[in-house]
Parts: sequence; structure tokens; C-alpha cells
Amino acid sequence: MPIDRVLIVGGGLAGPSLALALARQNIRSSIFELRLTRTVAEGSISLAPNAPRALDHVVGVYDRLKAAAFSYRRFAMHADDGYLFGHLVQHDDEYDALRILRSTLHNIMLDACEEQPDLVQVRYGVRITHIEDRDDGVTLHFEDGTTARGITEERGRRGPGFSGAWVAAVSRTVGTA
Ligand SMILES: Cc1cc2nc3c(=O)[nH]c(=O)nc-3n(C[C@H](O)[C@H](O)[C@H](O)COP(=O)(O)OP(=O)(O)OC[C@H]3O[C@@H](n4cnc5c(N)ncnc54)[C@H](O)[C@@H]3O)c2cc1C
Repeated sequence: MPIDRVLIVGGGLAGPSLALALARQNIRSSIFELRLTRTVAEGSISLAPNAPRALDHVVGVYDRLKAAAFSYRRFAMHADDGYLFGHLVQHDDEYDALRILRSTLHNIMLDACEEQPDLVQVRYGVRITHIEDRDDGVTLHFEDGTTARGITEERGRRGPGFSGAWVAAVSRTVGTA
């Protein structure tokens, strides 16, 4: 199936990382995010070595990420009284684990999306109220009553993405997508 565009619902961590991975394959995508503007979460996130590996080879933001992150190869787990439960090794042959502010990780990926507007479109303030998922295609229903329809020519190219994103690859889009 020739993919015209991939429709991604949710601009959290998963949506932009998928859009960037697709852009590396020259596949266009639209991210629909309900928040009105770029909003990034507080706190930090730990990335086990499989994540840096994917962010390097698949998503392509590893160099920016590594420069902004704390790298580590193992960590110790202690009880409150100092008792050592043990160590957890967190590296493989190529990559260390990284700890990074969620906001930094998210901003790095959203910046990279915005740097390639021909391939990645991020639309804020767009709430999807429901998704019609049928054999011949998908229809996203937006809160303002408009829709974006994606025509698919084969099954199996859509479904839940990561924990919060929803994804459909379509061969033709009709409407606002
Ligand atoms: C307390 C906590 C600690 C964690 N720590 C780690 C960690 O250390 N390491 C790790 O790898 N993972 C960690 N995770 C898991 C990780 O945070 C999630 O897997 C990741 O954030 C999921 O990203 P996501 O984009 O799928 O979902 P989300 O970040 O939830 O993004 C979903 C996006 O969709 C948007 N949205 C929702 N509904 C709609 C709609 N109807 N229309 C349009 N947009 C919509 C939301 O506004 C949001 O921006 C942790 C999770 C929690 C809760």
C-alpha cells in the first residue's frame, strides 16, 4: 500500500518519536494533539539502553539527547536505612542508560518535528472525540464537528501505538488531515 500520510493522535512522547521515525523513511505524518500549545511534562525519565538505541537508529535524535542527559551504566538500590539490596546493570555493548528531564526529551523531539514541516505536521488544540475504524479506512472525528478520513487499502496498518498514542497509516486522506 502506498502510504500518503500517517495519522497520529497524541503529541506526547510517543507521537513525535513515531513521526520522526517515519520522516526518516520520507513518510509524511500529522500529529493531532488536544493541548492548545506545546506542553511538556515535569519530572525526569530513565531510558534503558533499548530506548537510546531506538532514538539513535530509528528516531534520529540521540546526539541531541545524549548531550542533554545524564548517562549511567548501573544503579544501586538501597533501603531507607542504607541496606543495599543490589545493583542493576543498565548498559549494553553500545549504549548506556540515560536519565533526562521529560521536558528536554519532549522538546528535542518536537523541535526536530518542526524542523521538517514538509514531513511532519503538528496540530495543537485538536481533540479527537472518536475514531471510526473500519475495513476500508479510518475517520477521525474532531470536537468541532469536522472529520479527517483516511482510506486504507489493506488491513493491519492501524491500532494503538505506544501507551497514549493512536496511529493509522492511510493511502489517501480526505478532509482536514
Ligand atoms: C509516574 C510515571 C513514571 C514513568 N517513568 C518512566 C521512566 O522512567 N522510563 C520510561 O521509559 N517510561 C516511564 N513512564 C512511562 C512513560 O512516561 C510513558 O510510556 C510515555 O509517556 C507514554 O507516552 P505517550 O505519548 O504514549 O502517552 P502520553 O504522554 O500520555 O501522550 C498522550 C498525548 O495524547 C494527547 N491526547 C489524549 N487524548 C487525546 C484526544 N482525544 N485527542 C487528541 N489528543 C489527545 C494528550 O494530550 C497527550 O499529549 C512513566 C510513567 C509514569 C506515569
